[in-house]
Amino acid sequence: MNTAGEMGAPGDVDTAANTMMETDLNSVDKNKQDRNDNMSSIEPVKIDILWGIVLFFVAGHLSAIYGLYLAFTSTKLPTTLFGLSSWIMSGLGVTAGLHRLWSHKSYKAKWPLRFILMLMSTMAFEVNHIYEWCMDHRIHHKYTDTNSDPHNAKRGFFFSHVGWLVVRRHPDYYDKCLKIDMSDLKKDSIVMFQKTFYVPLLLLICFFLPTIIPVYFWNETYVNAFFTTMLRYIFTLNMTWLVNSAAHIWGQRPYDASINPSENLSVSLGALGEGWHNYHHVFPWDYKAAELGNYRANLTTAFIDFFSLIGWAYDMKTVSNDMILKRANRTGDGSHPNGDGIWGWDDSNISTEDRNLTTVINKKDD
Ligand SMILES: [Zn+2]
Ligand SMILES: [Zn+2]
Repeated sequence: MNTAGEMGAPGDVDTAANTMMETDLNSVDKNKQDRNDNMSSIEPVKIDILWGIVLFFVAGHLSAIYGLYLAFTSTKLPTTLFGLSSWIMSGLGVTAGLHRLWSHKSYKAKWPLRFILMLMSTMAFEVNHIYEWCMDHRIHHKYTDTNSDPHNAKRGFFFSHVGWLVVRRHPDYYDKCLKIDMSDLKKDSIVMFQKTFYVPLLLLICFFLPTIIPVYFWNETYVNAFFTTMLRYIFTLNMTWLVNSAAHIWGQRPYDASINPSENLSVSLGALGEGWHNYHHVFPWDYKAAELGNYRANLTTAFIDFFSLIGWAYDMKTVSNDMILKRANRTGDGSHPNGDGIWGWDDSNISTEDRNLTTVINKKDD
C-alpha cells in the first residue's frame, strides 16, 4: 500500500493527507471567486493520476483473479466458505455501519453494535476510515453528480466506479469538506479510535487474520488463504463501487425522475440491499434504504432488524406509505407499482394544473 500522502484526497489516513489537503485548499482559495458548481461542470477537468493507488488496485485485481482460479483448483471448501462469510460480514460493515448508521444516522446503535460494525467495516478496507468515508458520502448526497461529488457519475461509469479513487479530487470537493457537518462523528469515540489506529487495524482485520485463520484451523496453505482473502476484498470493493456507478446510470426512477440514482436489483443483490438507489437519494434517512417492506435483496435491513430485536439498534427512521406515494406521483417516472396512473381526460387524479395547461383545439361549450 502506498503512503498516505500519495493515496490522495481525503482518502486517507492522517497527517500526510491533512498536509496535502491544506495545500490543495490554499490553491482552491485563489480561484474561489470565479467558480461555482454550475460553471465548473462545463470546465475541462485536469486529471492528476495517483499511480501508487493504481498499482495497488491492479495488483489487487490480478490477485483476486488468481484467487478465483485457486478456488476451482486447490482451495479447500472451508476456506471458500470462510471467504464467502467474510464478504457478507465486511459488506454489512459497509452497508449497516459506514452507510446507514454513520453517514446517514438512519438509526442509532449501542456501543457493542458500533464496535462490531467498526471491526466489520475495517475488514472491508474501503480505502478510507469511517470518518473520511462518511464525509465523502455526505458530500455525495448533498451535491450529487456535481464536481463537488467525489464520484460524480456525470464523468462516466469508470470514473464513478473506481476512477475517482485513483485521481486527485476536483477543487470543488475540498470546499465542501470544510462545510459538511461532521460534528457527530467527532464525538463518537469508536469512530475516532478507528481513525487513530486505522493502518494497523486494517492490516490485521482485512488481510492478516483472514489469511491466518484458515491456515491455523484447517491446515489451508498460506497461498490459498491469502489469495482467497484478496478475492473477497476486491469482490466486496467492486460490489460497493457498483452502487456509485451502475445504480447511478441504469434502472427505473419511480420516486424522482430528475436525478440519476436509480433502482437496480442486480446491484442490490451484490451490495446487500443498497441498489434501491433512487429511493435512497430521495429519502436518505430511511434505515431500510428502500421502500420494500420485505428482506428480498436487502440483507442489511434484516441485519439491523435483528439487532433491534435485542435492543442494540434503535430509533430506526422510515417513511410512511402515504408520503412515498405522494412523492412518487409528484416527481417519479411513473414506474411505481402503486403510483396513480392517469387513464385519460376526466380521470379524478389529473391535477388542476395539468387541466388548466392543456390546449384544447376547436373548443365548444356544451
Ligand atoms: Zn447514502
Ligand atoms: Zn448515490
